[in-house]
Amino acid sequence: MEKFYVTTPIYYVNDIPHIGHVYTTVAADILARFNRMLGKKVFFLTGTDEHGQKVQEAAQKRGLTPKEHADSMVVNFQKLWKRMNISNDAFIRTTDEEHKKVVQELLQKLYDKGEIVKRPYQGWYCTPDERFWTEKELIDGKCPECGRPVEQIEEDNYFFVMSKYADRLIEHIEKNPQYILPETRRNEVLGFLKSKPLGDLCISRPKRRLSWGIELPFDRDYVTYVWFDALINYYSATLYLGPERDRITWWPAEHHIVGKDILTTHAVYWSTMLMALDMPLPKNIFAHGWWTVEGRKMSKSLGNVVNPDEVIDKYGVDAFRFFLFREVTFGLDGDFSEGALIQRINTELANDLGNLLQRCLSMLNKYFDSIVPEPKTKEETIATQAEESLSALKEALGVLAFHRALDIIWDLIDRLNKYIDENQPWHLAKDPSQRDKLSTVLYTCLEGLRFVGMYLYPFMPETGVKIFHALGYEDFTVDPERDFTWGRLPSGRKLPKTGPLFPRIETKKEEKKVEKVETEKKEPLISIDDFARVQLKVGRVLEADRVKNSNKLLRLIVDTGDKHRQIVAGIGKVYEPESLVGKQVVVVTNLKPAKLMGVLSEGMLLAAGDETDLSIVTLEKEVPPGTRVK
Ligand SMILES: [Zn+2]
Repeated sequence: MEKFYVTTPIYYVNDIPHIGHVYTTVAADILARFNRMLGKKVFFLTGTDEHGQKVQEAAQKRGLTPKEHADSMVVNFQKLWKRMNISNDAFIRTTDEEHKKVVQELLQKLYDKGEIVKRPYQGWYCTPDERFWTEKELIDGKCPECGRPVEQIEEDNYFFVMSKYADRLIEHIEKNPQYILPETRRNEVLGFLKSKPLGDLCISRPKRRLSWGIELPFDRDYVTYVWFDALINYYSATLYLGPERDRITWWPAEHHIVGKDILTTHAVYWSTMLMALDMPLPKNIFAHGWWTVEGRKMSKSLGNVVNPDEVIDKYGVDAFRFFLFREVTFGLDGDFSEGALIQRINTELANDLGNLLQRCLSMLNKYFDSIVPEPKTKEETIATQAEESLSALKEALGVLAFHRALDIIWDLIDRLNKYIDENQPWHLAKDPSQRDKLSTVLYTCLEGLRFVGMYLYPFMPETGVKIFHALGYEDFTVDPERDFTWGRLPSGRKLPKTGPLFPRIETKKEEKKVEKVETEKKEPLISIDDFARVQLKVGRVLEADRVKNSNKLLRLIVDTGDKHRQIVAGIGKVYEPESLVGKQVVVVTNLKPAKLMGVLSEGMLLAAGDETDLSIVTLEKEVPPGTRVK
């Protein structure tokens, strides 16, 4: 059986988890869930980096040992991953005894092979960053990374002879176009490697300066440089945390997902370490972009750090997960804003997806007493699109193109919505001779939704499960051999009552209101006679359906006292035709007739708002049709 091993970086245990951590971890979760659904053996690893100067200092300040401090911090990540529905198979901590043992074994191996050597070292050291800098790298004599003062240090240290692997690494990256993705990042790494000779990597810190680390097995006066320790987690975990590790060789990983700020560490340090150890390299290292918030860099001083718990409380886990991968191409930088999130929820989750399910279930209830009908024919185009989406999804997710995967799923959702509009089941239902057609249409929609549920599950696990429950399944289970085939939804099954998947989020329109008042001031005032020229009358909706090939326009037959008028109204994105029948509305009756998409409209319906967020004007109590509105 095929195996699939995906990792996030191990997060710095001092950090409070923010949107960046969430982004990487959900990306790995999507891949893990998708590959499990395909029947692969999956190992999804995340964890925390717990050694180093800053951990030691933070612990000292709190009067704790570094391990006690780490124990109290690590739960911040573990709790959040539970809330985010992260399905990691293991959580590694670099303070695990097993990990430390592996790090020491590999250090010893490299030392014995002559890949690690002791040398006198002169340089400038930034204590908080635990980094050496050369004279040239300093900016105004200070640390180029944090701007703090550095101290000159002369001491013996241990070096990994990284320089001798530069050519091999360049060759590997050039021969394997998918080794580093996206391509722009790959070119940056190649540029870095080719621009100047690669140096050796100092991998030790004397204990008198830093004691909180893994001791070098060949020299007890030193501990291991944190990066060297941290990177090895990807391998050490396979030996003591990998599922079924007695039978499955997990190394090498299929994907290391990292933020772009730590790409060099992975692409250069880790790759050359593995080469020196004669170990296979990972298949892919993917560096994603950063998030700004409302157009600004996220920072503590600006107070605009996105707290994932607050987003979940307000909008739910699935909407949050969806937004991160729908809004931005994975690999590029993105901007997080609540307005954009709400927009996505209302248009794509509530309207496109939520309404599709509700429409299907309410028609099924009305026409078939909620029992899944037997399809009389197979709708080949839709069946083919549903089935073939799978290979397209495999291809997209194989290169971490999450945005493309969501496009594929939304194409299917759009197709199903359009299919309903084209076939107008509410018309079919009126004609007993169309009963077979009606059965086919409703079955096709429900079976299409089963595919939507499967495909969405890796992105939005709760939603996938809810769709499956709505379709009468007790659990979300997918048999990869059979369930990606059209027609698996059993007929004759009675479906349960289901609430809306994503309630719309009402937004405050205060800002817009202010703008409007200002523009209105500039317009000239009108007299009562001007107003009286507009004939407004009360009408009652007798019939309503959708205008063919339009998702916006509805055709209404309205009784306005004098006659039954046909009115075309652009309210179809918000209102279901059936919901309007019987309602009292206000109509402009002396407007010149006009044709909209070929359909004659003899009046205008009053409504407030724009096409995706509007309300029709109704009356506070019943009055006879034809009554003037003044
Ligand atoms: Zn610094």
